[in-house]
Amino acid sequence: MQAQKADILAQRPARTGWARQLILGAMLLVVPALSVLTAFGIAPDTSVADLEPTLVRQPLDLPELSPPQPLPERFVAQERVLRGDTVAALFERLGVRDPKALDFLRGDATGRAIFRQLVPGRMLQAETGSDGELLSLRYYLNASALMEVSRSPEGFASRQRAVTEAPRVFYKTATIGSSLFAATDAAGIPDAIALQIARVFATDIDFHVDLRKGDRFSVVYEMLYDSGELIAPGRILAAEFVNDGHAYQAVLFRDDEGEESYYSLDGTSRAKAFLRSPVEFSRVSSGFGKRFHPIFRNWRAHTGVDFAAPRGTRVIASADGHVVSAGRRGGYGNAVEIRHGGGITTLYAHLSGFARGVRAGTRVRQGEPIGFVGSTGFATGPHLHYEFKISGIHQNPMKVALPKAEPVPARLRPQFIEVASQARATIERVANSSPARFE
Ligand SMILES: [Zn+2]
Repeated sequence: MQAQKADILAQRPARTGWARQLILGAMLLVVPALSVLTAFGIAPDTSVADLEPTLVRQPLDLPELSPPQPLPERFVAQERVLRGDTVAALFERLGVRDPKALDFLRGDATGRAIFRQLVPGRMLQAETGSDGELLSLRYYLNASALMEVSRSPEGFASRQRAVTEAPRVFYKTATIGSSLFAATDAAGIPDAIALQIARVFATDIDFHVDLRKGDRFSVVYEMLYDSGELIAPGRILAAEFVNDGHAYQAVLFRDDEGEESYYSLDGTSRAKAFLRSPVEFSRVSSGFGKRFHPIFRNWRAHTGVDFAAPRGTRVIASADGHVVSAGRRGGYGNAVEIRHGGGITTLYAHLSGFARGVRAGTRVRQGEPIGFVGSTGFATGPHLHYEFKISGIHQNPMKVALPKAEPVPARLRPQFIEVASQARATIERVANSSPARFE
């Protein structure tokens, strides 16, 4: 027994030497990037740390690495599911023009899951060719499972599988020079996260008009990975935005019913306040500057605020509520009226059309699209006419003291204080770091 043990110990260096030779051999034969994988494939028991392979430089006669024909164009796009969405509408937004793909999903046992589980907020990712044909599709059924469809010469195939990795957390900080997107681009922050920043702080900042040069923000966010590959941006966990010298913070907090929402660090819910602008902020609208400015007219005669915006721009609900009416309404043209808590109603007029599923009785969440900017009714050009009433009396939404947001329920206060103090410490660390250190 003793002898056998000694024997095994004695063999080890020899084996390592053999593996080393193999690796060096492989390096000479194969393209270096592939060689490591190849060698490990042959010697699975070898400890990687022991090896330290020496690099051997030797001129190789390699063929020119240029593709025989131009590579087919592939476009990757992803969209969040909106309330009332359909797979067809999502495909259109993703640039998928492929009726056969839709037919496949409808007829396929695994693919059908997407029709049954079209939950607002979930992510759909599509890869398309130059004619809009679907090459692959990924739908995140939840944070731990996804459905995949892929195209091969034989046709479409689908499968459902588990997401294999926990989300990775990123820390970034940036200063606004010209626009939010210029800053996020420079910091390597994905658009989906930039839009979430705008959404999280939309109750304090109208990102169309309020941003100032020198404003800065810090953000802690998740990115979802699967098998080492980035699959989608995740959620913002904590963030701070300093606008015109005033600092606003937000932290994601999950209540005891599993509902997640953003709170200020003092414990007031951000979502319970009203948005500063009912015109959706996007990469497109961010470049328009003054075109999205609220226009004040003679207040008494006008009873509303006009937001200049190009036709078709999405109009969003300024707070959670129920649709009271959605339809033609005299001089207002196409209009939506929403009832919120506290006797507050909001009205959105001159719309060119309504968002899918928006009708009397529909429950809408803050920030959800309800219609599109137009010029129906008495309107000289496309703009959004926005009214804000408290107990039936018109108020100027840009000036009225908006109702206080609801705080974290008392029973959750201890957990929240813990989460908020961690968030505060993290935000401070990120804000005081050089951007490069946190890449
Ligand atoms: Zn107006």
